[in-house]
Amino acid sequence: MTESDLRTQATEIHEQFSDQLEVTVEEIEERLETLVNEYKVPTNEARRSVINTYLDEAGMDRDDLGGGGGNEHVDIAEIDSPEEWVDITAKVVDLWDATSDAVAQVGLLGDETGTIKFTKWSKSDLPSLEEGAVYNLRNVVTDEYQGRFSVKLNRTTTIEELDEDIEVGEDDVEIEGALVDIQSDSGLIKRCPEEDCTRVLQNGRCSEHGEVEGEFDLRIKAVVDDGADVYEVIFDKETTEELTGIDLEEAQEMAMDALDTSVVADEMTDKILGQYYSVTGPTFGRYVLANEVEQLREPADPEAVLIKARSI
Ligand SMILES: [Zn+2]
Repeated sequence: MTESDLRTQATEIHEQFSDQLEVTVEEIEERLETLVNEYKVPTNEARRSVINTYLDEAGMDRDDLGGGGGNEHVDIAEIDSPEEWVDITAKVVDLWDATSDAVAQVGLLGDETGTIKFTKWSKSDLPSLEEGAVYNLRNVVTDEYQGRFSVKLNRTTTIEELDEDIEVGEDDVEIEGALVDIQSDSGLIKRCPEEDCTRVLQNGRCSEHGEVEGEFDLRIKAVVDDGADVYEVIFDKETTEELTGIDLEEAQEMAMDALDTSVVADEMTDKILGQYYSVTGPTFGRYVLANEVEQLREPADPEAVLIKARSI
């Protein structure tokens, strides 16, 4: 996209709004430039987004432009491709800790059809979203990472809080695949006992509350590979017990005998690594939270069987 092309686009948009708004071609061009160069938005989408912004500012309707430029209002479950500019109406289901200064807010949005991760950029300069509130979000961009979709709130996004509630729909996924890795902090862990904290302790310390008397819990963070994608799956105490046949009491005894909690993760790893499972549960950001787990027989892959036979 050359500068003169952007200038042409800006001039065209300017003509559409020159009666309603005091905006210069340069300002429009700058908005287009930010979207195209900074956010890597395709030019036609950038154009559509900028037009939407000015429609809002002018209090005009899309129809006023005669077949021009608005976004489609979509259900969350409909979002299935990246780099689309869409409008959604959604409830803030959860807010997470932002891990980067570039991100002002990150969390989970939901509507009747399901949930989706959202990211709000720091430089977008938008008001804070409140957990539990419902918003009309116009001009958000879809994104995709490893087969899962998210939406980004950017400088052109408009946020309107609605006085209503939404019953957020379940969007369970089912994965069938091999459990190929078990991550650290799996097995017998200790959690912070402070109210509403439950952070996993590292060497007896909570990152928020310092040294505390932790409470034992079981969980497994695993990677499941279905042949097309890899998923990070979290098994809570119940599903971990089901998966490994080791319950919390047994795990604590094992750790006490060995004076070491890591024996539990080792034992669990022996039982489940390389096995095939069907896992069902909701997605939470990049994680699948396992609600149901069922061991599958290995697929009849002759080569795998042969390798197994040789290794006995
Ligand atoms: Zn804590």
